[in-house]
Amino acid sequence: MRAVVMYAPGDVRVDETERPTIVEPTDAIVKLAATCICGSDLWPYRGADDVDHQPMGHEYVGVVEEIGSDVTSIALGDFVVGSFFSSDNTCEICRAGYQTHCVHRGPGAVPGAQAEYARIPLADGTLVATPAMPDEDLIPSLLAASDVLGTGWFAAVAAEAGPGKTVAVVGDGAVGLLGVLAAEQLGAERIIAMSRHPDRQALARDFGATDVVEERGAAGVQRVKELTGGLGAHSTIEAVGTQESMTQAIRATRAGGHVGYVGVSHDVSLPGEELFFSGVHLHGGPAPVRRFLPELVRLVWDREIDPGKVFDLTLPLERAAEGYQAMDERRATKVLLTF
Ligand SMILES: [Zn+2]
Repeated sequence: MRAVVMYAPGDVRVDETERPTIVEPTDAIVKLAATCICGSDLWPYRGADDVDHQPMGHEYVGVVEEIGSDVTSIALGDFVVGSFFSSDNTCEICRAGYQTHCVHRGPGAVPGAQAEYARIPLADGTLVATPAMPDEDLIPSLLAASDVLGTGWFAAVAAEAGPGKTVAVVGDGAVGLLGVLAAEQLGAERIIAMSRHPDRQALARDFGATDVVEERGAAGVQRVKELTGGLGAHSTIEAVGTQESMTQAIRATRAGGHVGYVGVSHDVSLPGEELFFSGVHLHGGPAPVRRFLPELVRLVWDREIDPGKVFDLTLPLERAAEGYQAMDERRATKVLLTF
């Protein structure tokens, strides 16, 4: 099968590799219908994370072609959505809604999801089947549920977005934009998108943003305070993972407010004294997308939300390297790969 492999930073190739097979009786083999490139794939691409011949990809939708002997709730021919970690969905941590910290957690798609096939461990606990085969036009939105929508949704929930709340969103990548959509769905009264890219501002407004703030850093914090009577947002979504974005998120939040942080943290350190006196709640980490998947699949299936709009470039898998380059240069927000 064909699969995307990152040989080294900046060096992405499509290799001919072995099709995965069932290893554990709880596995499923999925023939992917579509996959995509994640903002987090840019960390190794840019040399910020080590990488050496790494099979890439962790977002996937597709059709179940094989199942292990212990798989009971997923059937051959099911169209399924999964996420970036596998989970049993039965342990105490999973039942509390933190499937990304499952005591049996493993990779979500082996060897990687930017490939024609993937092996999904713990298929019963990891995968969610759609009611039937989806129409072609629903596939991008179902794929978005696999990571960026689920992650943006968790960020909004962690930030306690809801009726009467003002939500600020730091980061205008796919996760930040879908955090806007999630905050809108959760009933937020006002949503402030922080972005300086006209096309992303437009999509943020389309997803429900009521205000756009172009300033960053201290000036960005100042603007959010001006828009909120000097208090700051009730709820802030942090969807970048840098020192600047995390600091901006905490300072833009009012005392008693909540920051939901889902940008993969890179060299962020938090000053204890500032945190102590901020009175702000922090909650985040790798999103337990599996908690939200049944509801997100339903919302997409019923065409109540259209998160697939975050994909602004579609390429065949063979041209994955161009997709990485386009996202690295910010010419594309999110790249869909087809077969
Ligand atoms: Zn578990």
